[in-house]
Amino acid sequence: MPILRVALNVPIDTLFDYESAEASPSDIGLRVCVPFGARKLIGVIWDVCTESVIPVDKLKSAIAVFRDIQPLPAELMALLSFCSKYYHHPLGMVVINSLPVKLRRIKPAVLKSGIQDVIYTLTESGRQIDRSSIPVRNTVMHKLLEALSGDTQLDAQQVRKISVRAAKLLKQWTAKGWVEEKQYEILPDTNDSARKIPLLELTLEQSVAVNSVFTQFNQFNTWLLHGVTGSGKTEVYLRLIEKALSENKQTLILIPEINLTPQLEAVFRVRFTKTPIVSLHSGLNDTERLRGWLQAQQGIARVILGTRLAVFTPLPDLGLVIVDEEHDSSFKQQDGLRYSARDLAVFRAKQVQIPVVLGSATPSLESYHKALTGRYHHLRLNHRAVKNAALPQIDCIDIRSGKPKTGLTGQLIHAVKDCLSQRQQSLIFINRRGYAPVLLCRSCGWTATCRRCSSRLVVHLQDKKLSCHHCGHSEGFPYACPRCGDPDIKPFGRGTQRVEETLSELFPAARILRIDRDSISRKNAWQQILQTIHRREVDILIGTQLLAKGHDFPNLALVGILDSDLSLFSTDFRAGERLFAQLMQVSGRAGRAEIAGRVLIQTEYPGHPLYQALQQHNYDALARNILAERKVAGFPPYTFQALLRAEAHSINTVTDFLHTAHKLARSIVDSLKHKNIEIFDPVSAAMARLKGMERAHLLIQSGSRQDLQFFLTNWYRQLSALPSSKIHWILDVDPIEF
Ligand code: ADP
Ligand code: ZN
Ligand code: ZN
Repeated sequence: MPILRVALNVPIDTLFDYESAEASPSDIGLRVCVPFGARKLIGVIWDVCTESVIPVDKLKSAIAVFRDIQPLPAELMALLSFCSKYYHHPLGMVVINSLPVKLRRIKPAVLKSGIQDVIYTLTESGRQIDRSSIPVRNTVMHKLLEALSGDTQLDAQQVRKISVRAAKLLKQWTAKGWVEEKQYEILPDTNDSARKIPLLELTLEQSVAVNSVFTQFNQFNTWLLHGVTGSGKTEVYLRLIEKALSENKQTLILIPEINLTPQLEAVFRVRFTKTPIVSLHSGLNDTERLRGWLQAQQGIARVILGTRLAVFTPLPDLGLVIVDEEHDSSFKQQDGLRYSARDLAVFRAKQVQIPVVLGSATPSLESYHKALTGRYHHLRLNHRAVKNAALPQIDCIDIRSGKPKTGLTGQLIHAVKDCLSQRQQSLIFINRRGYAPVLLCRSCGWTATCRRCSSRLVVHLQDKKLSCHHCGHSEGFPYACPRCGDPDIKPFGRGTQRVEETLSELFPAARILRIDRDSISRKNAWQQILQTIHRREVDILIGTQLLAKGHDFPNLALVGILDSDLSLFSTDFRAGERLFAQLMQVSGRAGRAEIAGRVLIQTEYPGHPLYQALQQHNYDALARNILAERKVAGFPPYTFQALLRAEAHSINTVTDFLHTAHKLARSIVDSLKHKNIEIFDPVSAAMARLKGMERAHLLIQSGSRQDLQFFLTNWYRQLSALPSSKIHWILDVDPIEF
């Protein structure tokens, strides 16, 4: 009888064998329901064979093979296998967690409305509707008609975005014959003569970049598209996607943040009007995600835009991969399977021998190093694409002589005032939300800390709460210091809310908008905010890094940066690289169009090389500087790292475990031919306690990726055999947080 080898979502790195009379090798990649202990589990058939190491009488039978969707393609299975091996994470867990939630359930996946999106268009009589006869207050009707005008097709997702009531309205209109429901039409986009917007003429730098990739479009290469902010990287992506479409290929575009999807998606939809585009991100509900995934798997979707997890989408005709803002740390998953979507994207491209483009204004030093050493092709865009748009003028304001009480120097306040009088927008960047990072007792030095984490509680004055930004715990303000009883406890330092308060006092007439995670928690809030900014309904923006990424604010003339010095002397060796990227990005928001931009950094270290490089817009100088330091210190990209992270309720459990792990590591290295593996002593994590768990880790480092992998495979096997009931551990390969 055929035997199924099944990948299951259990923390044991092995396949599980089951009998199944009906199975054949063509079932590889299908989902299957199997008994596991007293439970039933969903799994993926990884192999079908005739023999098992398990005695026949002990083999259980599979309960049902699901044929509701096509099997996972072999390439995707190879990617998942690689991912499991490289990150030393159980294969079944990798596989099942890569699937849309609806495919992880023990039942066939059904989409009531089918896989293909229905699209809506106006009929002839719909076009005749006299919009002036519709009451003005019926905004949904107006919005819908507006959206449908000019032969525009809307799909369900777009309809929902207009209003939750829009779908119902469309049903009524369909009944009235105003609107027609159709299946999505797939038409090649090559001869799109009715292009609504004429193509931009590429700058010289852009056309060099585009043509370079074109000449090697049917082979694997990693292209580092290294372009300053505003250099028109998006236009380069668009030309490459166009080429992929014309060759009947799918394109996968990975972006770091869900906030960036609607903007980029809108750009794509305008450009490729007849191309089915899906976006896959955590803001979708389970049905939307499944539909997008299936459209990709069946080749219906031609452009797939998504965050991290989208790297695991089955794409039968994949011809191009793009990773935008490749340096962004959100491409690395920070719990469970700690994969880097950027690195897997490169693997995917290599698998099917196609180009992959990594775009950034401030590439990660790993990628930059590969470009310098010739493993990646370096494409540079050194100038802004819009004519006469220069990079902003960046200056430091030295605050050593007198730290301003309000947090804002006279110079910065003056610059904001200037902007206001010229009706231009300004942005104050402070990467800390809340009112103040510390609640302090002035008489005894007590500060409010989280009981479950080794962190301070952040003051949120508006809702009169102290809250932990690590575990979400929040509590009321104490009336007096719990230690000495003094009622004089005060917020110390500042966050976005306090800056907002200060600015409203200074500029009572200005329209001020704060943008951080507390202010945009509502769904869709982000899009409204962007519109508000674009319509110039805001004068001063205050924001965290949320604001820094990829947005185009044409009327923004000034960026003020507060409290960035904190990251200059961090113990994390990547802090400088990150700060530079962040400041470069937020500076890049200024002066994108006709307006000349200006950036003012308040700092106690105006001579610091990082600020110097920033002022000269000289990424290379800083990057080479940091690389030289890393080489001496033996840090990545000159070495490869893996971190064994462990946590438990008791610190002793953690320490004991890591000491055992250390001993095992030693004995493995002693037995190896190549001994270039460095084992560090266990140390506390940067957050030594998180959500009530004590945390520590052990770092392993090697000059050779292969040697490190060989070691890790052995070590992982031995670690897995240790008793593990009290300890939670995970291997983090290529860690970026400590
Ligand atoms: P980046 O992603 O590199 O920061 P964008 O892609 O956002 O830059 O482009 C910045 C601006 O330049 C956009 O407003 C875009 O429309 C414009 N732009 C891009 N390419 C050209 C071009 N060839 N000619 C004129 N404007 C361009
Ligand atoms: Zn006190
Ligand atoms: Zn906490």
